[in-house]
Amino acid sequence: MSDSYQVAIAGAGPAGAQCARDLVTRGYDVVVLETESEEAFPAQSDKSTGGTFASMMTSFGVPDDVVMHGTDSVVFESPNEHFVRDQPGFVLEYGDFKQFLVDDGRENGVEYRFDARVRDPIVEGGEVVGIRYNRDTELYADIVIDATGPAATLAKDLGVVDLERQNHAIGIEYLFEGVDLNYPGYADLTDSMMLRLDHTYAPGGYSWIFHTGEDTAKVGVCYIQNESYRQHSSQDRTVNEYLEHWLDTDPRFQDARRVADTQVRGSAHVQPPESMSTDSFIAIGDTVPSVDPVWGEGIYKCMKSGRAAAMTADRCLHGSVDTSAPETAVYDDLWHEEVATRQDRRLMMMRLLYLAPNDRYDQLVRDLNELDRDIVSDINKGNKFEIAKLLYPRDLRYLWKYWRET
Ligand SMILES: Cc1cc2nc3c(=O)[nH]c(=O)nc-3n(C[C@H](O)[C@H](O)[C@H](O)COP(=O)(O)OP(=O)(O)OC[C@H]3O[C@@H](n4cnc5c(N)ncnc54)[C@H](O)[C@@H]3O)c2cc1C
Repeated sequence: MSDSYQVAIAGAGPAGAQCARDLVTRGYDVVVLETESEEAFPAQSDKSTGGTFASMMTSFGVPDDVVMHGTDSVVFESPNEHFVRDQPGFVLEYGDFKQFLVDDGRENGVEYRFDARVRDPIVEGGEVVGIRYNRDTELYADIVIDATGPAATLAKDLGVVDLERQNHAIGIEYLFEGVDLNYPGYADLTDSMMLRLDHTYAPGGYSWIFHTGEDTAKVGVCYIQNESYRQHSSQDRTVNEYLEHWLDTDPRFQDARRVADTQVRGSAHVQPPESMSTDSFIAIGDTVPSVDPVWGEGIYKCMKSGRAAAMTADRCLHGSVDTSAPETAVYDDLWHEEVATRQDRRLMMMRLLYLAPNDRYDQLVRDLNELDRDIVSDINKGNKFEIAKLLYPRDLRYLWKYWRET
């Protein structure tokens, strides 16, 4: 084992493992440090529902072997309405997906060190020169990348990111069998990924049912623990209790049984990044954070941020090495242009959405059903003009509240 690399990455999630894959195919000498043991990996960090789309699978060469179930549509539910959009998707076997990224990188020459809990950056003369992990093991690198997800172990230490508690979203999910996917009065969820806006079950957030074949589905709840959560929460429940409440009161779960050992639990921060890089250092994935504020799509975003960091490192290390802050800041530009385009607008949409009450959700879903496909796409992309057309005079109070809060 060497103690000196061109690039050292902390964390073997989608962001870190993808960044390593890209760098190694460009011939760089890369090491990834992962806190979990190799035998257990990724038991602790198997934290995602794994819903994704063809764009992610194709862009990053992800094979069908890691797909649990292919879906044909996305469904949006409100308490009393639903909207169906045809769109092929994939629910991944998330652990297999993470393992694939590691194996594929390794085959091409990435060095993985498991059981390697990153502690802090090694800083010399004001510049990051390496990583300290476990008790006191050190390794050095021209560029250090933090891909530890919401832990942000190195980025926090360096003051590059400040993940705020009021922007912390938490989620929990189980795999169920015996789910009635076509219950009278509800949308047909066969071969669908369904997201539900309903404060009764997820105050200040959303819940979901992702079909995984036959009568099985991943069922979960997530929300941000901020003011809108408190405003809409009539009960003092934990996230587990909200999920239980949904399971107890929605008829689609009356015969559902929880599959043992399938609990998924995790978190992400939903906030605008201030900075993402400094001399010889880049933060990627949910460390930044990159997850989509509205629907929590993080896999594709984080993989893209890993790729943007690899492109930046390539630029810095190719020819005469220059890893100074102005050079690593190319990553910040790529992130805004290609990873999380219009993130500020997505954040605004998210905040407005979660301030609205349940009956406004019903109205929104009714209106979406009246619009043509291209307009719905434009709304989802944050087109202000189309979003404005969805507003009613009563929405002024949410706009006012949003303006005051931000
Ligand atoms: C409940 C839930 C459901 C979700 N569902 C979806 C979905 O359906 N579709 C979607 O696109 N996105 C989903 N997401 C979001 C998506 O999973 C994340 O955005 C994505 O996993 C973030 O990737 P990452 O590589 O940045 O970080 P992570 O996935 O958090 O990976 C970080 C890695 O770093 C390791 N690590 C942490 N600390 C250290 C340390 N000190 N030293 C060394 N290693 C360390 C961890 O073990 C882990 O392997 C979901 C998230 C949650 C919580």
